[in-house]
Amino acid sequence: MTMQPLDKREGFIWYNGTMQPWQSTKVHVLTHGLNYATSVFEGIRIYNGQAFRLQEHLERLLHSAKQIHLKMPYTVKELYEATSQVISANNLTSGYIRPVAFKGAEEIILAGHNCSVNVAIAAWQAFESNRQHLNERGINAEISTWRKFPANVAPADTKTAGIYMMAHTVKQQAQANGFDDAIMLDMADNLTEATTSNLFLIKSKQLHTPIPDCFLNGITRQEIIKIARHSGMQVEERHIHVSELPYFDAAFLTGTAIEMSPIASVVHEQHKHSFELNHPVYLALLNGYQRVTGN
Ligand code: PMP
Repeated sequence: MTMQPLDKREGFIWYNGTMQPWQSTKVHVLTHGLNYATSVFEGIRIYNGQAFRLQEHLERLLHSAKQIHLKMPYTVKELYEATSQVISANNLTSGYIRPVAFKGAEEIILAGHNCSVNVAIAAWQAFESNRQHLNERGINAEISTWRKFPANVAPADTKTAGIYMMAHTVKQQAQANGFDDAIMLDMADNLTEATTSNLFLIKSKQLHTPIPDCFLNGITRQEIIKIARHSGMQVEERHIHVSELPYFDAAFLTGTAIEMSPIASVVHEQHKHSFELNHPVYLALLNGYQRVTGN
C-alpha cells in the first residue's frame, strides 16, 4: 500500500482563522519558521470523533510558543473551537490533528519582530499499518550516542520544531543501525525518553519512569501514571541510571501517536537487554488506557 503524500490530500485546513482548501494551504520558502525553526506544534488524536485531551494539548502549544517568544494570536478557547471545526469539516471519527504555529515570511532578520505568527490546524485519517506489527513483536531500541541536552540548553518541556531536528537525527541513526527507535541518556547517564515517546520500566509490580527534567512530560505519560496510581500500583518517578537496565522485567513507550508500545530489547554498548512482552502490569495499564480513550 503506498502512502498518499500529505500535501496531495483533499479536505480543509484551518489557517489563520478561516477554513482553506487542503492543497492551497502553503508557505513561502523564506518563511522565518522554516529557516530558523521559529515554529511550535502539537500532535493530538481523534477517538470517536473527539480530540483526546484537547485542552491539555492546546495549553502545551501556547506554552511552547511562549517559551520561544512567539506571540500566539489565538487563545486556547479559540483554537479549541477551530479544532472542532476542522474535525467536522473533514468528517473524521478517528485520526490525527496537527496544529502548527510559525513566524511568517515578512522578513528574514533573526529576531523577526515584523513577522506575522501564523497558525494552521490540519487533521486527517492517520496511516498506521506498521503499529500492530511493532506492538506484537515489541520495539527494538538502542541507546543513542546522542545525549539529551539539559533543560537550560533548550526548552525541553515544549514541542518546538528545533528540538525535533535532534529527534529526527537520533531516529535516522537508530534505523540506519537496524533498530526501530533509540533512547537517549542525559549528561549523567540516566535514561530519558525515546525520539517521540516517554519511557516506562517495570520491576515485578512496580512502575518506574524517569523524571521529566530534560524532556517532555507527555500527556500520555501523565495519563498512565494516573491510571497506575488509581489502580494501587507503586509508581516511582526518579533518575534511572542506564546501568539499571538489567534490573527490569519489562519496558514500554507511551505517546499520543504510538499510544503504548512494549519494548522487546534495548542495546547499550553492544549488550542486549531483553524484556518480557505481555507483562501483566503492561497489559493492565494498556487496558486502562484503552478504557480512558474509549478505543
Ligand atoms: N517525547 C517527545 C519528544 C514527543 O515528541 C512526544 C510526543 N508528543 C512524547 C514524548 C509523548 O508526549 P504525548 O504523550 O503528550 O504525546
